[in-house]
Amino acid sequence: MQVYLEGLNEQQREAVLHRDGPIMIVAGAGSGKTKVLTTRIAHLLATGVDPFNILALTFTNKAAAEMKERVEHILGNNEARNIYIGTFHSVFARILRAEAEKLGYPRNFTIYDTDDAKSVVKTVVNELGLDDKHYKPNTVYNRISSAKNALITPEEYINDYGLQQEDMRSNRPMIGQIYDAYCKRCYKNGAMDFDDLLLKFYLLLKTHPESLSKYQRKFKYIMIDEYQDTNTAQYQIIKLLGAMHENVAVVGDDAQSIYSFRGATIENILQFQKDYDEVKVVMLEQNYRSSQSILHVANNVIANNKGQLPKKLWTSNAEGEKIKLVRTATDNDEGKYVADAIQEQKLRNHYRNNDFAILYRTNAQSRSFEESLRRMNIAYRIYGGISFYQRKEIKDFLSYLRVILNPGDEEALKRIINFPARGIGKTSVEKAVLFANQNNVSMWNVLGQAAQFGYKASTLEVINNFVIMIKMFQSELQKKNAYDLSILVGKNTGLVKELFNDKTTEGLARYENIQELLNSIKEFTETPTEDGELLDKSLGSYLQQITLLTDADDDKGESDVVKLMTIHAAKGLEFPVVFVGGLEETLFPNAMSINTREELEEERRLFYVAITRAKQRLWLTYANTRYRFGNLTQNDPSRFIEELPEERLDRAFAGGNMRNNQSNQWNSFDKAKTGFRTSSQENRSATKEKPAYMVTSPVVKIKEHTPTEGFTPSDTSNLQEGQKIEH
Ligand code: ATP
Ligand code: MG
Repeated sequence: MQVYLEGLNEQQREAVLHRDGPIMIVAGAGSGKTKVLTTRIAHLLATGVDPFNILALTFTNKAAAEMKERVEHILGNNEARNIYIGTFHSVFARILRAEAEKLGYPRNFTIYDTDDAKSVVKTVVNELGLDDKHYKPNTVYNRISSAKNALITPEEYINDYGLQQEDMRSNRPMIGQIYDAYCKRCYKNGAMDFDDLLLKFYLLLKTHPESLSKYQRKFKYIMIDEYQDTNTAQYQIIKLLGAMHENVAVVGDDAQSIYSFRGATIENILQFQKDYDEVKVVMLEQNYRSSQSILHVANNVIANNKGQLPKKLWTSNAEGEKIKLVRTATDNDEGKYVADAIQEQKLRNHYRNNDFAILYRTNAQSRSFEESLRRMNIAYRIYGGISFYQRKEIKDFLSYLRVILNPGDEEALKRIINFPARGIGKTSVEKAVLFANQNNVSMWNVLGQAAQFGYKASTLEVINNFVIMIKMFQSELQKKNAYDLSILVGKNTGLVKELFNDKTTEGLARYENIQELLNSIKEFTETPTEDGELLDKSLGSYLQQITLLTDADDDKGESDVVKLMTIHAAKGLEFPVVFVGGLEETLFPNAMSINTREELEEERRLFYVAITRAKQRLWLTYANTRYRFGNLTQNDPSRFIEELPEERLDRAFAGGNMRNNQSNQWNSFDKAKTGFRTSSQENRSATKEKPAYMVTSPVVKIKEHTPTEGFTPSDTSNLQEGQKIEH
C-alpha cells in the first residue's frame, strides 16, 4: 500500500481512492475532510495525473500553501508546485490576468479592495447628484456585492421588480443606477473589485466557449474545501468547469456553514447530488482532533439546530478535561482571567504561546485580551481589524505602484497626484476628473494632455513633471523586478524622504512601515520562482498577491505567539487550547442575528465552529458587564450556555478583585438565565461598532494583512447594513 494511504480510516481511504467521477464528503468538524483532499491530490499525482490538470480551491492562501507542502512531503518531490491551488479569488485573478483582454480589461488590471470600491461608489453617487449620506457607500457597496455574487448584472438589477421594491422600501430607489455607473467606472479605470474576480471569470466562461473549453480541458480534477460556504457565483463556476470531466470532489460540513449572509447557500450541498448522474457520497464519522469532552459538548450544542444533515461523530481520543465555563465581573476581568490562565497552563502543562487561540464574535472584543496579554508580557498576534495594507502610508506607496502598472486606475492616481505635495491642488484634480468624464477618457489621459485643458502655467509644469516621472517608472517595468522598481519609486517620489524627515512618533512608525513593506517586496522577489509561467516577480504579480491575501495568510508559523481572531477567521484551523470569549446575549448570539430561526441557527453553527477548533482544552468565558459602543452594558449569559451538558462543565467565577491566577470555584453557581434582551437602542448602535481596536504591540509587531476576499473571515464589507455587525 502506498505510504500516504497508511493511517487513513476506511472511509477516508475510500474517498481518496475514488479517482474519477463526482464525489461529495459531508462530515463533521475534525473528521479529516481537508486531510482527505490533500491525500487525494497526492494520490492523483502518484497515479499519473499531471499536476497542471489539478485545480484545488481552499479557504485561505495559507491552507493552499500547506496543502502543497503536505503533498510535496507525501510525494517527496516538488511536483505540487504546478497545481492550480489557492482561494477562489486568487486562482481566478491569476487566470483573469491572462484572459482580461477578452473582456476588454487591460492585462494589468487593478484589483480594488473594499476601500477603493467604496470610494468609487461615493464618487458615482455624487456624480449622479445623489446624497452620499443617504446612499451610504457602505450600504450601496453591500447591495452591489450581493448582486454580483448572485450573478445579477446592472441591467438585470434595474429590471428586477423584486429588487426595485426592496430598494423603494429602504427609500433608495437609485441603487440599480448606481450599480450601473459603478461598473462602468471600474471598467473605465481598468479595475475589478473582489466580486468581479468571480463574476468576470463566470462571464468569461459563459461568453467565450473557447475559454470555457480550454479551462474545462485543463482542470481535469477539481477539489473544493469548505464547500458549504460557496456562493452562487462560485457554485456556477465550478459547475461549468467540471461539466466536461465531472471529476469534482467537494468536502464540507453543513453544521459549519457560517457565511450565508454573504450569499453562501447550503443548497449548494444538496444541489451537488442532483447536478451529476452518479455522485459518490462518503461519510466520515471519526473525529481525530478533539478530546471526548470537547466533542461531546460540540455535538450537544449543534443538536439544537433543526436543519441539519444527519451525521454521527465520535472520537477515540482521550476523555480530556472538562470544559471550563468562567464568568467574570467585567470584560477587563475576562481579559485578565484568560491571560492568567494562559500563563498557568504554560507553566503547568508546558504549552507554548503558539498552542493558544483566543476566539471571539466581533473584532472589538480583542481589546481587553490584548491589554492583559501585554501586561503579562505574553507575545500575541491579532488577525483581522485594520490591516497593514490599509494603512495610509502603505496605501499611498502602493498607489504609486498601481498607477505605474495601470495609469487608468483613477482611485490610485487621485491618492498620489499631490502626495507628497507638489502643488497640484484639489481644484486642479477635480478639474481633471471632470474633463475626463466630459471627454470620456481617463484622468491619466487628461493629465497627459494637460496643455489642452486650460491649466495655468505653473500647475501645467508640475503636472507635466508628474507625468514624466510616472512614464519614467513605466519605462523600467520590463527591466526591473518589483523590488528594484519600488526602490526607484521610493527614491524618486520623495515619499520615503518625507516620512524619514518626520521625526514624530507617528512619523517614525510610518517610516518603519514603509521599510517593512519594502522588506516584504524584497522577500517576494527573492522567494524562488515556482512556475515561470505565472508566478513571476513582476510588479503586477506582486500587487495581485498582496491584494488577495487573507487574514490567516500572514502566519508563517515561526513566531511563538498567542493567536487572537474572530471565529469566522478560525474556520478550518485547530489549536491545542482554545478560549472563546464573550458568551453573552446580544454579543453571541449577536443582537443582529436573533430575529429569525435561520439567523439564530447560523450563530449556533458559529459557536459549533468555535468549540471544534480545540484539541485538548477549552475555556468558555463571559462577563457580567462590558463596555460596548462606548457604554457600560450589562448582559445576560448567552442562551448557548444553557445548551452545554452540565456533566462536562467545570464552572468558575473570576471577580473584579481577583489577582494573579487564583480563581474562585463558584459552587453555588446560578445557572445561566434564559432571558435575553435586545433593546432597540442596542440594535441601532450595534451597527456603529468600530472595527477592531488595533495598537502596535510592544511585545510582537503586529503585521496585519488586508481582509480581502470572498471568504475573508474578518471582511465585513459584504454585511447587510442593519443585519449584522462585524465579526
Ligand atoms: P474542519 O471541519 O474543522 O475543517 P476537517 O474535517 O477538515 O476539519 P482535518 O483538519 O482534515 O479535519 O483533520 C483534523 C485533524 O485530524 C488534523 O490534525 C488531521 O491531521 C487529523 N487526522 C485526520 N485524519 C486522521 C487519521 N486518519 N489519523 C490521524 N489523524 C488524522
Ligand atoms: Mg477542514
